Amino acid sequence: MDERIDLHTHTTASDGIYSPVELIDLAKRYGLRSLAITDHDTVGGLDEAVRYAGQTGVELIPGIEFSVDYEGGSFHLVGLYIDYRNLRLVEATQRLQERRSTRIARIIDDLAKHDIVIPLDEVLAEAGGESMGRPHVARVLVRHGFAEDMNDVFRRFMVRGRPGYIRKEKIARDEAVSLIHESGGVAVIAHPISLNFGSFRNFIPVIENMIRSGIDGIEVYASMHGDAEVGEFLEIARRYELLVSGGSDFHGDKDEEIGQYHPDKNIPVGILDAIRRRAAARKSV
Ligand code: AMP
Ligand code: ZN
Ligand code: FE
Ligand code: FE
Repeated sequence: MDERIDLHTHTTASDGIYSPVELIDLAKRYGLRSLAITDHDTVGGLDEAVRYAGQTGVELIPGIEFSVDYEGGSFHLVGLYIDYRNLRLVEATQRLQERRSTRIARIIDDLAKHDIVIPLDEVLAEAGGESMGRPHVARVLVRHGFAEDMNDVFRRFMVRGRPGYIRKEKIARDEAVSLIHESGGVAVIAHPISLNFGSFRNFIPVIENMIRSGIDGIEVYASMHGDAEVGEFLEIARRYELLVSGGSDFHGDKDEEIGQYHPDKNIPVGILDAIRRRAAARKSV
């Protein structure tokens, strides 16, 4: 089997369906050489992941995916090779967990106002007490017959203008970048297409501003990007000497495959060296 890497995945520590141990086993089966776990706003799964990966021969890259405050689109910032024990980082994630829990309760209240009634308990059980997100609610909505599948849920509920839409209170960009850097990590804009900039001409001032804020790279290889967009982002990464990252954004319940950004398209293994070198350089200062 071809060698594979994946620099963006989720576990049960946030809204993935596999535990860190199960995900690493899966990664091993799919021939992954390196796997980053990048749960939403939490480092909760990383200690277990790092310890278990050590026995398997899979390189476990400790990561995180912050939802960052941004006007216009959705801005997710992935940190790779972070020191997940960094105190400031841990404290920030605890604060974000509290906000996530509050938001989920408000989502359920708002759904109930629209006669979409699901038990909070079941959503809590779905989340298993850690980083809560809309997918946990979504799975319960499907189970109770309010929607057919995850895609159906996200068309009809919890998005702007629909029942259950509650804006998330997010971390500020400068804080997210500095937490990642301070913990020795590399900051990468996840699936930059979701910034919703319109045409690629409009992306230029956006990326120049992001670079000034200290981001190190962008995900070029992402399932949200069409082939043409992969090409555009690659070109921009080269022009601005940004690190190139890539990941499946694996959660386990869509049709993603670990190590691939599109069906039958592996994330190129060659992108990892430069990312690893940048992180090593940061740690040595
Ligand atoms: P939250 O962090 O609570 O805002 O939830 C965001 C998560 O919801 C994403 O990471 C995805 O896992 C999931 N999600 C968002 N939009 C969709 C969609 N259209 N289809 C399936 N899952 C989605
Ligand atoms: Zn998610
Ligand atoms: Fe994301
Ligand atoms: Fe993600």
